[in-house]
Amino acid sequence: MPLKGIISPSGKELSWEQYLVSNERGLFPRPARYNMFRELAPARSRWISPSSLCYCLRKAKWEFEREYYLTEQSAYPLFRGCIVHTMFATPKETNEGALVEEDIKCKIPGTDFVIGGRLDRWEKEILSDYKSLADNGMHILASTGIKQEHIWQTNIYKLILKRGYNLDTKEIKIIYVTMKGIVQSGSTFHISDRRGGEKEIKLASCPIYADDKILDFMVPKIKLITEGYAPPAAPQDWLCKSCYFKRECEATIGKGTSQVEDMAMPKTPEIPKSVDVNDLF
Ligand code: SF4
Repeated sequence: MPLKGIISPSGKELSWEQYLVSNERGLFPRPARYNMFRELAPARSRWISPSSLCYCLRKAKWEFEREYYLTEQSAYPLFRGCIVHTMFATPKETNEGALVEEDIKCKIPGTDFVIGGRLDRWEKEILSDYKSLADNGMHILASTGIKQEHIWQTNIYKLILKRGYNLDTKEIKIIYVTMKGIVQSGSTFHISDRRGGEKEIKLASCPIYADDKILDFMVPKIKLITEGYAPPAAPQDWLCKSCYFKRECEATIGKGTSQVEDMAMPKTPEIPKSVDVNDLF
């Protein structure tokens, strides 16, 4: 279901139309609101995105089934990602055979469900995915390396390209963009250290997984989201903070903080039947 609108600084749930014309103080300037509306408002009806499979599945399920709102501040990182993508998308006609900023998807046979999302770039068997980072992003990257979620997301795109479009991918590049610079997987970059010097950091390359491994990762999650089961909560402070369903999630498990444990749900939700991944696409 779509992102329905924005929660204003005073706590009002505004539809996109109300958000665009609101005079409430503290809202983003109107041109920013207009562009945020243009980029974030379009509904992605009955699509499950690769990224939603990589975080809290309860949130993914509820966002998939219901309408929801975000605060401006929590919508901003999504919007920032759109800005970065717009800057790096080049006209398709100058890149023969390339897919640039294309919506790609793949139906899961036997269901109404489709997994899909917007591909940043695929060209000459190289899949490139741009990630925008906050100001301290380079330092975080230096300490954590490429996030597992990013590796899975890009590998799921690789699988959609193969299953939906018969396109092979021989390399995946994850390109991190901040306001200060760009760094891509498999390359080195420099960060300042506490003594005012510089430290060189080598970022690993993004591995390419076999399709079976990717399907083993994603199919049970899709089943949990789509078959009426209540997926387990997977709280992470940064995610719960902006989650529209936080109160309901907390109420469900009878706790008052984001330290959510899955008490009301089965500890290990049962997947209805084993899935033969070869039947799926
Ligand atoms: S509050 Fe946290 S754990 Fe609960 S659904 Fe939202 S993201 Fe998941």
